Parts: sequence; structure tokens; C-alpha cells
Amino acid sequence: MTEKRISLSPAQITEQLQVIMNKTALAENYQLEAETVKTYNLIVHIEEGLPKEPKNLSNYYLLFIAWIRWLSDWNNYSLNLLHRRRLLGQLNQQIGAGKFTLEIYPFSSKLYGVKSDLRKTQIQLHESLDYMTENDCKRFAQLIKRQRWSDLKRLIVEYQERTPQWKELSAHFQSVKANPTHRNQTRGRYYDLEQVFTACNQHNFGGKMARPKVIHWSPRVNHTTMGSYNTNEDILMINRGLDRPDVPGYVLDFVMYHELLHKALGVKTAGSRRMAHTKEFRDLEQRHPDYERAQAFIQKNAKRL
Ligand SMILES: [Zn+2]
Repeated sequence: MTEKRISLSPAQITEQLQVIMNKTALAENYQLEAETVKTYNLIVHIEEGLPKEPKNLSNYYLLFIAWIRWLSDWNNYSLNLLHRRRLLGQLNQQIGAGKFTLEIYPFSSKLYGVKSDLRKTQIQLHESLDYMTENDCKRFAQLIKRQRWSDLKRLIVEYQERTPQWKELSAHFQSVKANPTHRNQTRGRYYDLEQVFTACNQHNFGGKMARPKVIHWSPRVNHTTMGSYNTNEDILMINRGLDRPDVPGYVLDFVMYHELLHKALGVKTAGSRRMAHTKEFRDLEQRHPDYERAQAFIQKNAKRL
């Protein structure tokens, strides 16, 4: 690498990085391999050249920045490589080397995509699937080979149910997207998040919680994620599906409280795992006066929002 600023576009860098990362993941003894360190240094170098205050950038560019920042943490980078290595190994066995391509990144709105023709199978995976186990990867490769799409979907759902980290990771990438999510956009049809925040702050934090830099409704209704908080950017998002007259105020207050707790406590790391819902978090969460009925309401109604 020269010391010059990188002049390639995010799309070109992404494409090249996918090739290098796959090659690095397959290197023998990859953790010790010089390739691994070289690729990591390249990522850090790219990270240093990124705009510090991203303004007026496309969603693609914002996701690219979030992805490179994510990878420039050695723990995350190793996790990505380990996951790639498992998958590539299994895909090589099941489909055969040279007969598929694999890309892992957070740019797709879907968790995974498989395109297959006679020559090649193109596989794209969302970074939030990084916690897949060796066994998941094996089943994943087998199901692609047999083109069992509904079973593949079931595998991903099972993975999501037992892997709480995936949600956090995918929310992290979702929340950096630009328009309209980078702006304060608190007014819904029935609820104004500005008021929800102020009331929640009064009731639960004695008015002492600083307002997140950005509060907004999610662009779309979501049936699994009621809210998210992006620690790096200080952006709090609430699921648009909760903006309805038949959703009680205490549910919004509780979801707001949950996300503000993330702001108050931050994210702890344990090895390569990012821990947001620590024991401390869960204890504090239960202190919400409507903890039980709010949880019950969400469990019962999330799918119907
Ligand atoms: Zn949470």
C-alpha cells in the first residue's frame, strides 16, 4: 500500500475486499498468517481515509463506512474471517471450488440472497449472520446445493431465535442509513416520539437523560424489532408499527426506556462478543413500572402490527 489516499469508489473497494477477505479466510493457519494482518492493515488504512463526519452521503456509502468501521475492530474482523472460513470450507465441499462466489456485507436489505445458474451460484450474506456455527454453515451449504429454499429460510429463522447478537448487529447497520433516518423525525400519525422521550425521561430517569442526537420512527413497520439504539452515532429508532391508536402509551414508554438504557449503559465487549443485554441491563429493564404488561403486549401483537 502506498501512503496516498485511496481513490477507488466504495463499490470498487468492497469488490476487491471481498476477494481478499475470501482468500485470507482460506489461508492455512489464518490467524497467524501474514495475509490476515496485511488485510486488516488495509482495512484500517481505508478506515482512516473515510470522511469523519459523513454528510449528504448515499445509503450505500453510509453502510460502506459503517461496515469498514465495524471490520476495523480486530475482534469483528476475526469473527468475519472465521465465519467466512467455515462457510467457504463447507461450500467448497458441497458445491465445489470455483462454482460459487461468496460475499459477506451489510449492504443488502435481505439477510441472504442466492442466485444460481448453470455456471455459478452467487451467494450474498448479511454481516449479521457472522455468528453462524460450523454446523449452521454445513446445513446452509447443503441446503443451497439441494436448492431447498424453504428449509434454508427455516435455518436462518432458527439461527435468529438462538442468536441475540444478530439483531443488534443488523440494527447497527440499519441505523446508519440516510434519509429519512439520519434526521429527527419524531412525529407519527398518533404518537410524537419527542413527547414519548420527554415523558419517559421524566418518569424513569428523573429528567436527567440527555436526548439522543437523533430520534426517529423506523422507515418501515417491523415485526421483530421494536426499537434500536446506535451507540456510535447516538441515534434512537422506534418501530413505526407502534404508531397506532390501539398500541397503549405504556408500550411506547417501555420501548423508549429500553433503548435509552442502551444509551445509558453502552455496549460491553466480552471477547469477540458485543454484549448489550447484560445482567445489569436486564435488571434495570425490569424496574420499568409496566415491564410485564408491555412485554406481554409486544409478544402477543408484534406479528400483527
Ligand atoms: Zn436492546
